Amino acid sequence: MKRAPRPNGYRDAWCGELTAARAGTQARVAGWVNRRRDHGGLIFIDLRDRSGLLQLVFHPETAPVAHAKAHSLRSEDVISAAGTVARRDPVNVNPNIPTGEIELAVAELEILSDAETPPFPLEEGAHVDEALRLKHRALDLRRPEMQHRLAVRHRIVATMREVLNERDFLEIETPYMTRSTPEGARDYLVPARIQPGSFYALPQSPQLFKQLLMIAGLERYYQIARCFRDEDTRADRQPEFSQLDVEMAFVTEDDVIECMEAVMGAVFEREGFDVPPPPWRRMTFAEAVSRYGIDRPDTRFGLELHDLGEALAATEFKVFSSALHDGGVVRGLNAGAHDLPRSALDELTELAKQHGAKGLVWAFVQPGEETWRSPVAKFLKREEIEAVNKRVEAEPGDLLLVVADEITTAGQALSALRLELARRFDLVDHDRHDILWIVEFPAFFWNAEEQRWDAAHHPFTTPTGDFEHPETLSSRAYDLVVDGAEIGGGSIRIHDRALQERVFELLGIGAAEAQARFGFLLDALRYGAPPHGGIAMGLDRIAAAIAGGESIREVIAFPKAASGADPLTGAPAPVDPGQLRELGLRLA
Ligand code: ASP
Repeated sequence: MKRAPRPNGYRDAWCGELTAARAGTQARVAGWVNRRRDHGGLIFIDLRDRSGLLQLVFHPETAPVAHAKAHSLRSEDVISAAGTVARRDPVNVNPNIPTGEIELAVAELEILSDAETPPFPLEEGAHVDEALRLKHRALDLRRPEMQHRLAVRHRIVATMREVLNERDFLEIETPYMTRSTPEGARDYLVPARIQPGSFYALPQSPQLFKQLLMIAGLERYYQIARCFRDEDTRADRQPEFSQLDVEMAFVTEDDVIECMEAVMGAVFEREGFDVPPPPWRRMTFAEAVSRYGIDRPDTRFGLELHDLGEALAATEFKVFSSALHDGGVVRGLNAGAHDLPRSALDELTELAKQHGAKGLVWAFVQPGEETWRSPVAKFLKREEIEAVNKRVEAEPGDLLLVVADEITTAGQALSALRLELARRFDLVDHDRHDILWIVEFPAFFWNAEEQRWDAAHHPFTTPTGDFEHPETLSSRAYDLVVDGAEIGGGSIRIHDRALQERVFELLGIGAAEAQARFGFLLDALRYGAPPHGGIAMGLDRIAAAIAGGESIREVIAFPKAASGADPLTGAPAPVDPGQLRELGLRLA
């Protein structure tokens, strides 16, 4: 803690900051009883506040009243205690805590609040069921590791603010009650009492507002923004999450990237998160997909993908030839010299299938000759095996994994296999991290199900290239990827009204609909919009990567459970009929 508490009737010092230097002086502390031990007439209490632990000792002869009261103390009772800071007997020194050389010999004890037995132990590292932790979050957050994580999160945000403030950014709030914003997810809606039948939407991001701020001439904006997206929940997702949201006027990709490198470089450095120093390398979307199968590769280890289409161009093996014939790919990776048992190969096959692949071909390169031990070896010509071996630089004993499928599916399956192999073979050094920008994304993807084009980033990202061939359009977007997780992304925006209308048209958003939904943006674009661009960094994920913890819920004070519900407050919950009536709503 930076400064001592203002002395009052409760305390004048932090528990964790009393050291031998204060021996012989008086101090008053306050906090929670971490533990009580009774020892040959003496009572010892470990007292806990945010700063740490302090041992209190109660002597029956010198402080009989306090000693008598201390008898009744139980874990999590709240007390204030005053006395003399005293050196411990050498045998009792605890070198593991900063206050381990001293104790407070208590003269006066005040019990401020009595605690029932907590529903779970609050010791560091205790394994407790998450549902129980979330239900009693106030207790859970008392645990030192949770206090640490929230402190790390706070420091991350403070560093972000500091670097951006230094660079003339203004922190500006944007509304939570607004109109649907298109980040491609479902909106959370808030019924409007003042206009029955109408709804506010909670923002999926401040995207349009930050663009308006640029049109307004604010030049540089940021906000620690809450975003709301009603998507199916996953382990690393929350219905509401936080991002560092940034927008800048008169900039290109390089400016936004440089600025974020300054911000994130400072965050990583201060928190001791070991990434290479900026500038960080950039990889095109095309290269990432070709080398790793996906656009957020974990680059801490090799196991890169190889295209085997050429090596197998003339193959008669149906699985490969039909994939190639249908416009798909045959791609593979060399897992190295690992003799996996059949059961493990079955598990890998299952994993590939979970990621949409029809199957997985495995092969062990035989020593001495250019042949494979593989269920498919008999279907392949010797030259084909040789060509594949050559392509993946196989050595005898190597395990090869091959997927034949449509390109995206093959990439996703092989990418999942890469990660699984890295885990099995322990290829990742978890103390070092890798970071890179992914750039030059495709602008639009064909959505075959809905028979329409979808924006790869969002509809406000500048596309470049030939509109006659939407599939070839590239977007001025960039993502920041750490250890295989996308921690941020943004783009240079469209600042030309005609181009914006053209993109809406391509996305099948007609003029009337565009005006109804985004008229406020289109109107603003009429009156002098500067070129602008920005980015958003996922704060929860960044904090989780830095502070540790199994999921982003560990770095959010009051998260929703994986189901999306809140075990603490019981939300979402039914409301009373009167409220519905007032809102003009009737339940179906
Ligand atoms: N609005 C985008 C998002 O939330 C980020 C950006 O383009 O700045 O993902």
